[in-house]
Amino acid sequence: MKNKVVIITGVSRGIGRATTKLLLNNGYNIVGSYLESDDLIESLIDELEYYKKNISFVRGDLRHESTIQQLIQTAVDNFGSIDCLVNNAGIFDRLYIEEIDYYNYLSYIELMQISPFLLIKACLPYFRKNEYGKIVNISSSLALTGYKYSSHYVSAKAGLIGLSKSLAIELAPHINVNCIVPGFIETTNIKKDSAERRKERISKIPKQRIGYPEDVANAVLFLLSPNSDYITGSIINVSGGLHI
Ligand code: NAP
Repeated sequence: MKNKVVIITGVSRGIGRATTKLLLNNGYNIVGSYLESDDLIESLIDELEYYKKNISFVRGDLRHESTIQQLIQTAVDNFGSIDCLVNNAGIFDRLYIEEIDYYNYLSYIELMQISPFLLIKACLPYFRKNEYGKIVNISSSLALTGYKYSSHYVSAKAGLIGLSKSLAIELAPHINVNCIVPGFIETTNIKKDSAERRKERISKIPKQRIGYPEDVANAVLFLLSPNSDYITGSIINVSGGLHI
């Protein structure tokens, strides 16, 4: 995939970091965003020494339109155009509905629903001009089932699925839009689990393990590659069978 340019959000940690490494290894150029973890980005730059010409970073809050404009500008200035978009950045807090106020709820919707929408819109002129575009939105298996103590998160992620399906129809035939719904993946939140909670989670997963960020990265690589050209509007479970 030499010269294909991908914007990925949330590359400092977890799924975004693993996806960045896998895509670089497969010949993509990357513009990656993060919020504030400069130390993690420094360590990623050290790991990616060989690829330093193929990656640029943008620091900023995706709830601000200026960050979105900066991502587009960086991709165009450094790599000439944009071919693919991976909306990955996210947050998660376990909260009862009584603990979620208007601003908290809005913040989840802004980050995980509105920022993907605005990024897609901002990439569209390039995708339309090239008659080529691949969009992958990272939602959550919880958006399909619902989950207690996280109505704000689940609502935002369910909206992202609706956005993906609608745009898959509207932007065809040249632009593919798909959604990945990960189950439990070994990243920031899952690492906080007690041994007991971890055991309980694993007992519900047919594959009998928590997913690795690389499991999701592999699905992203497939959905950006020509091998998935006939796949659009799909919801791909990466959950070890948890969703069954
Ligand atoms: P993570 O390790 O918590 O990393 C989150 C990333 O998003 C970081 O790069 C963070 O940057 C960035 N970010 C957070 N708030 C931001 C903001 N306001 N503006 C810009 N960037 C922001 O996440 P993860 O577990 O890999 O999850 C990645 C995606 O998969 C998320 O959308 C998540 O909801 C989804 N998902 C994860 C799981 C799971 O089990 N891990 C399951 C289902 C779905 P900083 O480091 O600078 O803060």
